[in-house]
Amino acid sequence: MEFQFATKCIYGNKEGFTGESTGAISFPIYQTATYAHPEVGRSTGFDYSRLQNPTRQQLEKVVAALEKGIDALAFSSGMAAITAMMELFQPGDHLITEVDLYGGSTRLFDNVSKKNGISFSYVDCSTADVERYVQDNTRAIFIETPTNPMMHVTDIRKMAEIAKRHDLLLIVDNTFLSPYFQNPLELGADIVIHSGTKFLGGHNDTLAGFVVTNSQEISDRMRFLIKTVGSGLAPMDSWLILRGIKTLPLRMEKAQENAKAIVAYLLTEPGVKKVYYPGIEGSAGYAVCKSQARGFGSMLTFEVESRELALHILKHTKLIPFAESLGGVETLLTYPMTQTHADVPEEVRLANGINERVLRLSAGIEDVADLIADLKQAIGSFA
Ligand SMILES: *Cc1c(COP(=O)(O)O)cnc(C)c1O
Repeated sequence: MEFQFATKCIYGNKEGFTGESTGAISFPIYQTATYAHPEVGRSTGFDYSRLQNPTRQQLEKVVAALEKGIDALAFSSGMAAITAMMELFQPGDHLITEVDLYGGSTRLFDNVSKKNGISFSYVDCSTADVERYVQDNTRAIFIETPTNPMMHVTDIRKMAEIAKRHDLLLIVDNTFLSPYFQNPLELGADIVIHSGTKFLGGHNDTLAGFVVTNSQEISDRMRFLIKTVGSGLAPMDSWLILRGIKTLPLRMEKAQENAKAIVAYLLTEPGVKKVYYPGIEGSAGYAVCKSQARGFGSMLTFEVESRELALHILKHTKLIPFAESLGGVETLLTYPMTQTHADVPEEVRLANGINERVLRLSAGIEDVADLIADLKQAIGSFA
């Protein structure tokens, strides 16, 4: 039975509950490392928690249902998910990726994947002729849309066409919009990545990551990898993410509403020079985002008139914490230059517009009047 999205957030597609005999409404935390076998050659389906754990499996079923994949694998963080996924590639392989990428992904590619013989072309996939970068050894296109933090929107269907023509995998990090607003597999992607730490968990209390796919072959290879590299999500953390997902639709709607109100305020604030949010009508990403997503999300980036004002805001908000991360119930302000994107080479960072005046805001679900009042007093107290 195929449920609607909000129902799936609570029950998955229901099949996960078979075998749970107590009637527990909240899926139990199976805090076990190993499982007894009835006899040699027989298994309950669970052998050892590095391979499978019922709580993790329930979470994986829910996330697969939300992203419309045939399988989802839960990892100990978003970076653990991407690291394991990169093991699909061999020395000599080449990937095309987005130049404005989450800084941790860039750090992984430049410092770990490169050492393993994999090369990358960093391209602004939202504007460039991506096909021009395809080489004989290219195996995949890895994108984010909207990007972190500059909110570039890439046409997923267009990337999927290029990938199909050249027999490449299309990998989409869907962290920013979450499956509530965007389902890349439906638009032609082969793999979806999530930092479950963000919107899926939603409470800034747990790290998690996902690889979701609609290919049996990729699922088989990823199952082999999670068993082999051992970075699967722990039972307790799986439960926290399961719990977070139950309110995903409510949180996404409220956070987006808050983000829109904050954007409207920032656009009137003289100290704010630019606001990057795909939901601004007529902005660069607006039309494409509207064509492939059901919303614009709750992430926004803005540039203020001076470095001094940026630092002043970070120091003087009274409600909004200055912290990295995003996607939780708490609104957070981030300084990408020294936080999320500190390890991106300076010339690349500046070319992408991530300068000392740029702040990123993840809208939470507080009362938006309090959020705007806090930003106003922080900006207004700058002499
Ligand atoms: C946070 C983030 C990651 C990394 O996830 P962790 O859970 O922090 O390891 C990857 N991609 C994007 C877009 C992110 O925001």
